[in-house]
Amino acid sequence: MYDMIIVGAGVAGLTAAVYGCRAGQSVLVLEGTVPGGQAATTEEIENWPGTGHISGSQFAGDLLEQARAVGAELRMEECLGLTLGEGWREVRTPGGAYRARAVILANGVKRRKLGIPGEAELTGRGVSYCATCDGNFFKGRDVAVVGGGNAALEDALTLSRLCPTVWLIHRRDTWRAQTALVEQVLRTPNIRLLTQSRPLEVAGEQGVSALEVDTPQGRRSIPVAGVFVAIGLIPDNRRFSPPVSLDENGYIKAGEDCRTNVPGIFAAGDTRTKQVRQLVTAAADGAAAATAAAG
Ligand code: NAP
Repeated sequence: MYDMIIVGAGVAGLTAAVYGCRAGQSVLVLEGTVPGGQAATTEEIENWPGTGHISGSQFAGDLLEQARAVGAELRMEECLGLTLGEGWREVRTPGGAYRARAVILANGVKRRKLGIPGEAELTGRGVSYCATCDGNFFKGRDVAVVGGGNAALEDALTLSRLCPTVWLIHRRDTWRAQTALVEQVLRTPNIRLLTQSRPLEVAGEQGVSALEVDTPQGRRSIPVAGVFVAIGLIPDNRRFSPPVSLDENGYIKAGEDCRTNVPGIFAAGDTRTKQVRQLVTAAADGAAAATAAAG
């Protein structure tokens, strides 16, 4: 039995691991996909206090190394659900089950899908949810990015350094992204905007050949080899509920102290109800949750 099991090796989870280990706890971190979470797939981080520029992969790698150096154990297993017992909490995985005195849920959020024809069929063959991971495959070819938030605009900028033309397709004519990013996009000559426009279908057989878009001027077929979908994030918490209570949007109900409705189960980072979902707020949650869990 461990003192602490942390579900998710993103910034919240790994920060919790560092704080937990440094508080003398035995810590197991479970990760179902890629250690580092969203930070690992971010091209460049500019808003971590005291650090001007750092690549997302470097940042995530450093944090993982730090957690391991203080004694955290990492296993690449997905959490399927929770079982409660007297004095223990159990995390079920495809390979078995692990017990601890406390569990910190730091599983982050999933990427939202467009839900249009061709999207699922061509995922991995031209449709992507990560420009940082897949952008290089589209070097020299035209691509489209869908969305109007920070992620979409960052993706468009990343791709504009690789691709002759990047179509940025957004359903409104005002942006959710930070002003600095919008200004940078507007200054980038090979990013072409299609606002008040909605993707209708991803066309292609073996790979993507075009994106069909509903624009104010009517339906258009935009010839592209890649479609990068960056339309936001959704929580993925049903496997924890019950016993853990979720809010109406599916986020885990927990306040600044990261305590859920179940004693001994904590929620940290993007997965919990909160206003600002950023690296620094995820890290802050990791510290708060581990401190509470160790107490
Ligand atoms: P987001 O801020 O929620 O933006 C999602 C965008 O996708 C919005 O523009 C939205 O349009 C659009 N959208 C949503 N559903 C759609 C659909 N079905 N079809 C077409 N468009 C759709 O998501 P995000 O950009 O992934 O960012 C998530 C969080 O991470 C945010 O808090 C963001 O600030 C943060 N983040 C920060 C940084 C940074 O600080 N450098 C980088 C990346 C992400 P509407 O605008 O019309 O709603």
